[in-house]
Amino acid sequence: MKEDFLHYVWQHQYFDKKDLATADGESFQVLRTGILNTNAGPDFLGAQVKMNEVTWNGSVEIHLKSSDWYRHNHHKDPKYDQVILHMVWEHDQVVKRRDGTIIPVLEIKNRVPEALLQNYLNLTADKPTLPCAPFVSEVPHLTKLTMTDRVLLERLDEKACVIQELWQNNKADWEETAYQVILSNFGFKVNQEPFLRLSKALPYSVIRRHQHQRLQIEALLFGQAGFLEEPLSSDQYQQRLSQEFAFLRHKYSLQDSLTVSDWNFFRLRPANFPTVRLAQLASLLLGKSHLFATLVELENIKDYYNFFEGRVSDYWQEHYMFSRQNKTLKTGLGKASKDNLLINTVIPLIFAYGRYLDNQTYINKALSLLEQLKPEENHKTKQYKALNFQFLSAFDSQAYIQLYNQYCAPRKCLSCSIGHYILKNTRACQ
Ligand code: SF4
Repeated sequence: MKEDFLHYVWQHQYFDKKDLATADGESFQVLRTGILNTNAGPDFLGAQVKMNEVTWNGSVEIHLKSSDWYRHNHHKDPKYDQVILHMVWEHDQVVKRRDGTIIPVLEIKNRVPEALLQNYLNLTADKPTLPCAPFVSEVPHLTKLTMTDRVLLERLDEKACVIQELWQNNKADWEETAYQVILSNFGFKVNQEPFLRLSKALPYSVIRRHQHQRLQIEALLFGQAGFLEEPLSSDQYQQRLSQEFAFLRHKYSLQDSLTVSDWNFFRLRPANFPTVRLAQLASLLLGKSHLFATLVELENIKDYYNFFEGRVSDYWQEHYMFSRQNKTLKTGLGKASKDNLLINTVIPLIFAYGRYLDNQTYINKALSLLEQLKPEENHKTKQYKALNFQFLSAFDSQAYIQLYNQYCAPRKCLSCSIGHYILKNTRACQ
């Protein structure tokens, strides 16, 4: 058992209160549980209890054993001077505050319902699959929907925070921020980090000056990415880009360029090579002067797909690296890549903008776009699909990815509405 179960028991008061008394035999009543403290200090702040008809206000500290008070050095810490109650699973030692006064103890090992404890142990057991799997069919659909709505918003808020941090670092420039977010997602996990570095080494403000010149955009992207470093191959197109880049680098005083070794080609199919992605990116940036303004205002899902439509240059129609030709290669962005960019770039940008403006229209737009995209399939989402969780759109798959990462994998079932239902509902454990 972990202390988080005892926090849960105290927070929801799931223990037998008949003839409730402290370890010293004082009659005892909980008037207010207090608020769970996630920072340093006692576990619950602002609690109120009544002991022998006297009302006490202060903090509640919770441990598996009362001797943990000394193990954690609370007897030396002034933050614990206001503790009015020590709730423990097992009382094995009298404990005192810094001033030498004894802290009242409530032992609960014989007061927690057996079914609740058993359900908790089942849920937190180290199993390869989701621990709630045997019971989840008994959980009402509405409870599952409430949880998926909650975690989906948590996921979008986390992404919005990252975007807002970038926006602050970009001196409140949404266009530069959108450009950086798009580029980092063009790396599709494997090359996310070098693409993000590239976005900072080559500002959008420079690209925009050449928005109608494909050759210059490619020279800037491939040059700053390190693919035009000496020695060059005998490929004429590479040499031409290199000449152009030498001029542009000097003109814009570009620094901090990457090198070829920063890019990952390992285990990638040629169509996903970073060189191909850079060529696709050049097509995307061509003719677009306002990435962000366009993305937040497009009308429907078809417009968003069109936004990512773009024919790579003639050279990249037939190459996947400089001097490496393959005439049958499909070098345009596929539908799966477009969906990925919509889910991980466009929708979080629109949502972040909605949060920034406190404008529900943009938030609803982000949610509505998610509902129009196909659900993603990966080893995480498959687990929920196998348990017949609703699986209608990317709204659901994004929610399950968050549920898995933040709740199921770290076994935070006590903070999950589904786990909460199972713990409370004794039918679930039969
Ligand atoms: S966190 Fe919720 S959904 Fe995940 S395993 Fe626990 S109870 Fe099930």
